[in-house]
Amino acid sequence: MTEGARLLDGKATAQAVRAGVAADVARLAERGLQPGLAVVLVGDDPASQVYVRNKDRAASEAGIAVRTLKLAAETSQADLLSEVERLNADPAVHGILVQLPLPSGLDADEVVRTIAPEKDVDGLHPRNVAALVQGARGLRPCTPAGCIELLDRHGYELEGRHVVVVGRSMLVGKPVALLALERNATVTVCHSRTRDLGKVVGDADVLIAAVGRARLIRGEWIRPGAIVLDVGINRGEDGKLVGDVDFAPAAERAGAITPVPGGIGPMTIAMLLKNTVLAAARQAGLTEVLAPAG
Ligand code: NAP
Repeated sequence: MTEGARLLDGKATAQAVRAGVAADVARLAERGLQPGLAVVLVGDDPASQVYVRNKDRAASEAGIAVRTLKLAAETSQADLLSEVERLNADPAVHGILVQLPLPSGLDADEVVRTIAPEKDVDGLHPRNVAALVQGARGLRPCTPAGCIELLDRHGYELEGRHVVVVGRSMLVGKPVALLALERNATVTVCHSRTRDLGKVVGDADVLIAAVGRARLIRGEWIRPGAIVLDVGINRGEDGKLVGDVDFAPAAERAGAITPVPGGIGPMTIAMLLKNTVLAAARQAGLTEVLAPAG
């Protein structure tokens, strides 16, 4: 694609998703329900503080009652679990998010397992993971759902297309592969032991990179016209944020590509808000009030 790729603007798309969420919140308010989100931040990791602040602001803007609980890095596992249990029992809280990673010494898996599955707006509880695998009702993880929403809102269908996912984490790679499969894509998942990554990437109609290595995906690997979603967030040598894809040469060949920042990051937050409203409506038996999906 010598004319260059279409830029998939995650910021603008997320804004549209958030406007839809705000409209749902207004309709729920007419029925006497305000969705509530509790965000739990343990310790003082600077990146986590920024993420939590952004989530808090976006949720308030959409009309969600958001409460951020800041706990000391020395908080014990038992205290953290009882905090989560208290939120599970609070009827004003419909969504619970524990910001990860947790300080060392805390067991994140156990914390996530303790969140009530219907309030698990990050979609990481084993029950929600099982629902994703089974194609059953549940809450889907935000970053993977954000990838699919971005494609949907730009009119890209996945059916019959070859989706190559680089990365197999529980947070991004595996769930986004399952969501693409649910859309009838043919899916290949790559990881650190994949042989000849460039060759596999070169066969992708849609590439989803979720590795965490700056510019691992080289521009010349990209199939001309491919759609490229770059989930990676890395610090470049100059301190600026860069993705997993070497953006400029990839954009020369791709049909469409997400920037970093301003691509999947904002979509992730928008999907968190969407999950919170969905969780609230389900808990109150008011899902018919929400705008139809899609
Ligand atoms: P992760 O848990 O570290 O997983 C990274 C995956 O990449 C692993 O499956 C690993 O393979 C694979 N990998 C590592 N080196 C590789 C290589 N040389 N070739 C091929 N695959 C390789 O990371 P994550 O949590 O999925 O996050 C991935 C990236 O997305 C990070 O940059 C993170 O900051 C970003 N992220 C962004 C958002 C957002 O909102 N935009 C949200 C979440 C994460 P193995 O399994 O074989 O080790």
